[in-house]
Amino acid sequence: MGEVISPVDGAGIGVVAGCSVDDVDAAVARAAVAFETWRNMAPGDRGRLLRRFAATVDAHLEELAQLEVRNAGHTVGNARWEAGNVRDVLDYYAGAPERLTGHQIPVPGGLDVTFHEPLGVVGVIVPWNFPMPIAGWGFAPALAAGNTVVLKPAELTPLTALRLAELARDAGLPDGVFTVLPGRGSVVGERFVTHPAVRKICFTGSTEVGTRIMAGCADQVKRVTLELGGKSANIVFADADLEKAAATAPYAVFDNAGQDCCARSRILVQRRVYDRFLELLEPAVRAVRVEDPARETAEMGPLISAAHRDRVAGYVDGADVAFTGSCPDGPGFWYAPTVLLAASPADRHWREEVFGPVVSVLPFDDEADAIRLANDTEYGLSGSIWTRDVGRAVRVARAVESGNLSVNSHSSVRYWTPFGGMKRSGLGRELGPDALHAFTDVKNVFIGTEE
Ligand code: NAP
Ligand code: MG
Repeated sequence: MGEVISPVDGAGIGVVAGCSVDDVDAAVARAAVAFETWRNMAPGDRGRLLRRFAATVDAHLEELAQLEVRNAGHTVGNARWEAGNVRDVLDYYAGAPERLTGHQIPVPGGLDVTFHEPLGVVGVIVPWNFPMPIAGWGFAPALAAGNTVVLKPAELTPLTALRLAELARDAGLPDGVFTVLPGRGSVVGERFVTHPAVRKICFTGSTEVGTRIMAGCADQVKRVTLELGGKSANIVFADADLEKAAATAPYAVFDNAGQDCCARSRILVQRRVYDRFLELLEPAVRAVRVEDPARETAEMGPLISAAHRDRVAGYVDGADVAFTGSCPDGPGFWYAPTVLLAASPADRHWREEVFGPVVSVLPFDDEADAIRLANDTEYGLSGSIWTRDVGRAVRVARAVESGNLSVNSHSSVRYWTPFGGMKRSGLGRELGPDALHAFTDVKNVFIGTEE
């Protein structure tokens, strides 16, 4: 770890020293001490501090957004949304400590009640693609439930997380309650997994690393939430509003340059409208504005790194390219939006997560065929269904094996609703009204009342 590079022009924008195992151990020890006061703080006081943290983020929203434009190459519009999302998620869960109720269960011979007890120190491991929101989805509900948090940002994108930790301190969160520890996954991340005082891992990243983290957590029966990869389907039926489906499809996959686990990177089109759909898609793809992400008009920025760009390009080499959009040349890790025609579901670009601005298109015959093709993947994170037939929309939504589906829309993430994957896309859910349950254990207490 060391120099932080801007993907916009390849320039160095700062130096961040990576933490050692000893640094992690010291931080976890502080977090374990802080847990005793944080968990016992009156729920309203804990909520008030989280609300202050939200207000402090809000007061620095533009600064955080600009930092992300530089560090991650996100468009300024997206980056503002992302900083605003951290604020909103903190505000949403600030109300939770006072509402974390258990049950009173009727039993003979006494009174039975349940408590949602915090776990202790929670380790949050964040990828580079959405540094701010993914951090917030972990730390906000974890803190609200009474846990303390150690968080590892991705090596490529540590800057906003480090700034959020400073803002938490400014807002009055006690020392040790929320600590950001930049560094290598193989050092800091692995120490979270092996450290006995870290009682839960909340991981977002690749299925490969997530699988190893789950195995590591098994040694200590450590709780784990995994948000992993995706290869989501955008299913367009012949009866859909084709103009709208085609106009929105590019943004459902090219947003954040396709570096989005929810990207609808497989477009399934009913055969009788396949040609018409591609005709409508082409101008929509060419119109995507790929430019300096600091510009207010930018719709897509660069990829995160030169190595990642090479990886993405590897999927396009030798594939059947239908058409592409454009992108700047010169410095920076640019890649133009690209539409590939799949010859069959066996194509590598159809099966594997590209994590770049590349989408594959394949025709299907009928509803059963669409469902079969959509489910022919190890992933199950999100997806879209375009049809005007309400019954079909409901049938297909129930049949597609995926955690988050949208009908006549491409929305995946709303902090009010649960988010997470089926199959190898993950384990557990984040966000929504029940998020605190993933950061607590249920305790049952029976109080005998017999004389
Ligand atoms: P990654 O390599 O899995 O890394 C994710 C995080 O884990 C990084 O902070 C990384 O640290 C850390 N890490 C790496 N090896 C580790 C280990 N052995 N033990 C503990 N932590 C370790 O993923 P990425 O390349 O950053 O992100 C791209 C992938 O994430 C894609 O596959 C995408 O689908 C997935 N993703 C999923 C979601 C979702 O919500 N489902 C969201 C975003 C991304 P370093 O920075 O040092 O590598
Ligand atoms: Mg990686």
